[in-house]
Amino acid sequence: TDPALIRNFCIIAHIDHGKSTLADRMLQITGVVEDRQMRAQYLDRMDIERERGITIKSQAVRIPFTALDDQTYTLDLIDTPGHVDFTYEVSRSLAACEGAVLLVDAAQGIEAQTLANLYMALDNDLTIIPVLNKIDLPAAQPEKYAEEIAGIIGCEPSDVLRVSAKTGEGVEELLNEIVNQIPAPVGEADAPARAMIFDSVYDTYRGVVTYVRVIDGKLSPRERIQMMSTKASHEILEIGVSSPEPTKSQGLGVGEVGYVITGVKDVRQSKVGDTITTLNKPATEMLGGYQEPKPMVFSGLYPIEGTDYPVLRDALEKLQLNDAALAFEPETSAALGFGFRCGFLGLLHLEITRARLEREFNLDLISTAPNVIYRVDMEDGAEHVVTNPSEFPTGKIAAIYEPMVKATVLSPSDHIGQIMELCQERRGELQGMDYLSEDRVEMRYTLPMAEIVFDFFDALKSRTKGYASLDYEPIGELQADLVKVDILLQGEAVDAFSAIVHKEKAYPYGVEMTKKLRELIPRQQFEVPIQAAIGARVIARENIRAIRKDVLSKCYGGDISRKRKLLEKQKEGKKRMKMVGRVEVPQEAFISALSTD
Ligand code: GDP
Ligand code: MG
Repeated sequence: TDPALIRNFCIIAHIDHGKSTLADRMLQITGVVEDRQMRAQYLDRMDIERERGITIKSQAVRIPFTALDDQTYTLDLIDTPGHVDFTYEVSRSLAACEGAVLLVDAAQGIEAQTLANLYMALDNDLTIIPVLNKIDLPAAQPEKYAEEIAGIIGCEPSDVLRVSAKTGEGVEELLNEIVNQIPAPVGEADAPARAMIFDSVYDTYRGVVTYVRVIDGKLSPRERIQMMSTKASHEILEIGVSSPEPTKSQGLGVGEVGYVITGVKDVRQSKVGDTITTLNKPATEMLGGYQEPKPMVFSGLYPIEGTDYPVLRDALEKLQLNDAALAFEPETSAALGFGFRCGFLGLLHLEITRARLEREFNLDLISTAPNVIYRVDMEDGAEHVVTNPSEFPTGKIAAIYEPMVKATVLSPSDHIGQIMELCQERRGELQGMDYLSEDRVEMRYTLPMAEIVFDFFDALKSRTKGYASLDYEPIGELQADLVKVDILLQGEAVDAFSAIVHKEKAYPYGVEMTKKLRELIPRQQFEVPIQAAIGARVIARENIRAIRKDVLSKCYGGDISRKRKLLEKQKEGKKRMKMVGRVEVPQEAFISALSTD
C-alpha cells in the first residue's frame, strides 16, 4: 500500500462515551461489515469486556474509505484499552498512530482518564480531532462542552465535530476529516525493517497473534524475524491484516498495521512495545518507549477447596499465555493453605483475572487484601523488596519506601471540599488545581499508591455523587513511616491478616480487625485472645470467652449408633475448619474478614 494513502488513528474516549458504537458505525458506513452481520460492538470480543463495558485489549481494524477526493484510503483504527491499569498499552497504541479522535459524550463532558490519554497523545505529537458524541440525546450540551474541549486543546469551539454514533449522523464527515487532518505515515522503505508491537494476543488455534505497526522497511511471509529486546528469532508463518476478520497478505510495508503469526505459544515471547526486525538485514536501533511489564499490586489467591490447587495452577498458566503482565508464584499460608502470590498491574487487572479464574475455570477463590511493593533498607545495609506483608523483614530497619502516584481528579466544582477531605485522609498532597470551565475543576494530587488501590475510587464516587473521575500514574517511591501490623490468635500470628500500614493508621486497623474476628470466630473450649501487634507491642485486644461444648453428654450412654452419627457430623464440620495453633477457625471467618465490604 502507498503510505500516502494510509491513515493510522485511534479513538480516545472514556468508558461509555461511545467508542465501540462509533467503530461499529464506521465499519458499517464503509461497508466493511455488511448490515446483516452487524451486531452491536463488533470489535469487543471478550465476554468480560462486553459485560463490564470496558476494552481490555486493543485490536486493529482496516477500513477502506473513499473520501471526497474520490481516492480510496486505508484507514487503520487501532483500539486502545480503556482503563488506568493499562496506561502502558495505551501509550504503545498511541505510538502506532499519527492521529487520534478525541471522543467525548456531549451530555457528560471530558473525564480524567480521557484527559490523561489526550495529554499522552499530545506528547506523542498526534493530530487530535475533537468530537462530541451522542448529540441525539436530549440532555446533550454541545455548546458547553465544545467550549470546554476547545479550551483544553487550544482550538475553536467550531472545530469540534458533532456526531451521533448511534444514528450515524456526522460519521462520514468525521471519516473525511481523518483523511484531511491526520498525516500519512512516513518511513524508509529501503531501511532495515522495524515494526512496533502494540498488542499480542493468545489464540487457542493460531498461537500468539502479534499486532504490529511497520515503521521502516517490510515484513514478508516465511521471513525470519528477531525480537530486538531478547534477540529471540522466529519465522513468520502468516502475516496479514484484520479487515476485520484476519486476511493473509503478501507482507506489510511502511506505515501499515497488521498481524504476524510465528507459532510462539506465549505472549511473553512477543511483548507489547518491542521492536521486530528481520534476521538477514537487522536494524541496529530499537524503537523507543519499550518497557517490561511490571506488576504493581499483589494479592494471595487461594482455592476455597484445597483440592482445586492444581486446577488453579493450570488456570494461571493458561491466563499467562495471554497476559504478559500477570505474575505468580506458589505461596503457603498457615491460615489459607496452598495458593499463589499474584502480581497485577492494578486493581482492575486483579479483578478481571479473578473473575476469569472463577468463571472460565470454575474455581472458588479467596484473595488476601491487595498490597503494593515496599522496599526496606536495613541498618546492616541489606535491602528487601516486600510483596507479601507477612514476609516483612524483622530486625533493625533504616528506611521503608512506598510507591507513589500522580492522581488527576476531574469534578464539578461543588465537590472540591469533599475531594480535598478524602485526599487528605489518604495522605495526599495537592499539587495544583485548574478550572476547565466555570463549574468544572481539575485537581492534581500525589498520593501513596497503597491508599489508591484499596477503595479510593469507590470513596471518591460516593462523595461526589458519582460525578468525579480519576486517573493516576506511578511516579516512583518515597520514604514513609510504615509499620507491619500482625493479628494474633492466642499469641500466634495469622499470616493472611498481616498488613503494612502507615503508623497513624495502625491502631484503627488493629481495632477493626480484632473486632471483626471476635464476631466471626466461634467460642472454643478455652479462652482465645485476639491481638493486634506491631512487633512485640500489642496495640489492640479482644477476647473470645470459653465454652464447654460436649455433644455426647446429651446421649445418656445408651444409643451407640446415635453417638457415632453425632461424632461423624462433628468431623464433617471440622473439615472446613483451619487450625491456627490450638484455635479452630472456620474458613468462613477468614473469607468474611478478608472481604472488603
Ligand atoms: P464505549 O465504552 O466507549 O465503547 O461505549 P459504547 O460504544 O459501548 O457506548 C456506551 C453506551 O452509549 C451504549 O449504550 C451505546 O448504545 C450508547 N451510545 C453510543 N453512542 C451513542 C449516541 O451517539 N447516541 C446515543 N443516544 N447513545 C449512544
Ligand atoms: Mg467499548
